[in-house]
Amino acid sequence: MKIRDFFTKFPDEASCKAHFKSEREKQGIVCKRCGHEKHYWISTRDQYQCKECKYRTTLKSGTLLHGSQLPYHYWYFGMMMLTGTKKSFSALEVQRQLGHRYYEPIWYMLHKIRYAMGKRDDGYKLCDEVELDEGFFETVPDKENRDRIAKELKENDGKYKRGKGSQKQTTVLVMAESKTVEASYKYRYGTNKKVGHIKM
Ligand SMILES: [Zn+2]
Repeated sequence: MKIRDFFTKFPDEASCKAHFKSEREKQGIVCKRCGHEKHYWISTRDQYQCKECKYRTTLKSGTLLHGSQLPYHYWYFGMMMLTGTKKSFSALEVQRQLGHRYYEPIWYMLHKIRYAMGKRDDGYKLCDEVELDEGFFETVPDKENRDRIAKELKENDGKYKRGKGSQKQTTVLVMAESKTVEASYKYRYGTNKKVGHIKM
C-alpha cells in the first residue's frame, strides 16, 4: 500500500481499530475457558463475552498487539513503514514520526512486527519453478573472522582476495520462485519470467 493510500484508508485511531476488529472476527474468537465460538461484543470495554460461559476476551488478546498499551494507529503505522516501503526504518525514526515520548515501546513494537513477518516468511513454501544460485553479499565480519582476515591480509601484502572467496563477502544460498507469464510481460521487461518469493 502506498503511503498516501494508507492515510486515506487509516486516517485515525477509529479506522485502524475497526479494521483490526473486523480482521480478528474473520479469524474467529474462541473462548479460552470453554472453547465456544459465539460471543457478544461489549463496545464500552473492547471485549468479547462468551455466549456460553460469559468469559471475556479482550480485542487484543492472543494477537500481536496482546498486552500493548500503544494505540492501534501506531501499530498500523509501524506495519505500513515496515511493509509498504522499500526502505527500512529505525525505531528512532518511527518514534520521531509518531511524536511518541518514549523510545522503548516503539522499539518493542517494531521488533514484534518484524518477528511476526519473519514467522510468516518461515511458513511460506516456494512454488512454481524454483531456481537455486549463490549470491555474494558484503558483510561485516564477526570477531573470530576479523582475526582470520587480519592474518590473511598480512600474508597477502594487505590485499583482499578478489572475486569469489573475497574476505569482504559472504556467500549466501538464494532460492527464488518464478512463474512463466504471458508474452506481453516479456515485451515490457525482456523476460517472460516473473519472480515471486525469495529465500536466502
Ligand atoms: Zn466460554
